[in-house]
Amino acid sequence: MTHRLPIAVLGAGAAGCATALALAHAGHDVTLIDRRGLLEGTSNGTPARLGLGFHYADRATALLLLEHTVDFVTRLPGSTLADRPGAPDSVRHARYFIARDSLFTPDELRGTHRALAARYAELWQEHEGRLPYGEPEQFLRELAPEEYEHDTATARVVAGFDTREVLMDWPHVRRALLDAVTAEPRVRVVTGAEVVGVDRHAPFRSVVRIEDAAGRAAQLGASLVVNCTWENIDRLTASAGLPVNAEAVNRLKALLELRLPASLVDLPSTFFCIGPFAMFSNMGDGRGMVTYAPDTNVRAYPAGDGVAEIMRALDGQTSRKADDELAARILAGVASFIPGMAGAEPLALRYGVVRTHGSSALDDRGSDIHRRDYSGVRVEAPDLITNAATKLIYFLRNADDVTTRVAEVLPPPTDRARPGDWVTPVAAGARR
Ligand SMILES: Cc1cc2nc3c(=O)[nH]c(=O)nc-3n(C[C@H](O)[C@H](O)[C@H](O)COP(=O)(O)OP(=O)(O)OC[C@H]3O[C@@H](n4cnc5c(N)ncnc54)[C@H](O)[C@@H]3O)c2cc1C
Repeated sequence: MTHRLPIAVLGAGAAGCATALALAHAGHDVTLIDRRGLLEGTSNGTPARLGLGFHYADRATALLLLEHTVDFVTRLPGSTLADRPGAPDSVRHARYFIARDSLFTPDELRGTHRALAARYAELWQEHEGRLPYGEPEQFLRELAPEEYEHDTATARVVAGFDTREVLMDWPHVRRALLDAVTAEPRVRVVTGAEVVGVDRHAPFRSVVRIEDAAGRAAQLGASLVVNCTWENIDRLTASAGLPVNAEAVNRLKALLELRLPASLVDLPSTFFCIGPFAMFSNMGDGRGMVTYAPDTNVRAYPAGDGVAEIMRALDGQTSRKADDELAARILAGVASFIPGMAGAEPLALRYGVVRTHGSSALDDRGSDIHRRDYSGVRVEAPDLITNAATKLIYFLRNADDVTTRVAEVLPPPTDRARPGDWVTPVAAGARR
């Protein structure tokens, strides 16, 4: 076999770890590089909702989410909070409310709900009834006001729905990904190494420049680069002399983790839509995670801008006083929809990044923010691919997508590929 440089996967979030595993399983040697440790970025600080599409009016976006989620729960069985032994009923459902001042009319939203239910019925057939969301009739049910008036500010909503949406068991999935990456002999892990640039010397011969926390520099050769650095994607694409996706926007977002008052411990996760409203995720252990859009969305930066400011927030270098004030505003906003939330105890404020395309005005129904019908994989050059997991769950299919595209330009030695689905080791800890 002729010597070939490894593939460099930059960024070890969910997207990077899954991509490294999929490429290794296809027979490639991979170097996986992160400025921190494995899985310590945005992927590690979300409620990990396995969205079924209900919070988008745009049908293509809603359906894309449904497809990814169904793919995820069928390929990684046992990976939701509802699969935990003794899981309370509160984690087996989620409620969606149409806010009174929703940017989209109830009729528009009901139309998208119908499209989702119809596609779910098809998927139910395709999977011969082996989906954890139950019969198509159980997929979505309109709630009677008596079912929510005791915990929800009824004056702020026009309709509510019970859905079978659940949360990913992120600690479990994270552990499984960490174990799989660590055990994979074809993945070499380099952590504590910030990628500061990519130099494409010749086709399929790049140099990845890295620096450790002390500023010590090193270089790694790569046949092909997969850029999974999320908030840093545009900066590194530009360093490689390639045009950046001028549409990309990085939005710094704060999420409040809290201890729920006893009255809300059994409340299902709840989403108020569509517009700059509120979200509550019940983690099933007395904790909740909440966002309140007018305050949660700290700032949006066009492609490549504000990276230093974003990274300071991600690295916990924000002011304690400002964080406490922001947490109080988020809590008050959520309590305007769920009054009992006023009795919750703030535990931690976390920052993460959401990456979208186009305009990001949440209060404009024409804004691109309400249309996210893209998964985040882009071929910037034959030897440089971007993989941004637009939603956490997209990591699984995106990894396959990248592997397919890599095989088109850099076929792996056929004798090294392993039969079967690369996710198998990841699912090894499944507990169904
Ligand atoms: C508040 C909030 C709530 C969310 N809720 C959900 C949800 O409920 N469901 C859902 O599906 N999605 C949700 N998302 C979106 C989801 O978190 C992201 O889509 C997903 O985590 C992106 O994964 P990633 O691997 O691409 O990015 P990351 O996990 O951020 O991984 C990028 C990695 O690159 C590393 N890196 C960055 N720059 C460099 C560099 N120069 N050199 C080396 N390494 C570098 C980082 O350290 C990090 O480890 C939410 C996002 C936020 C912010």
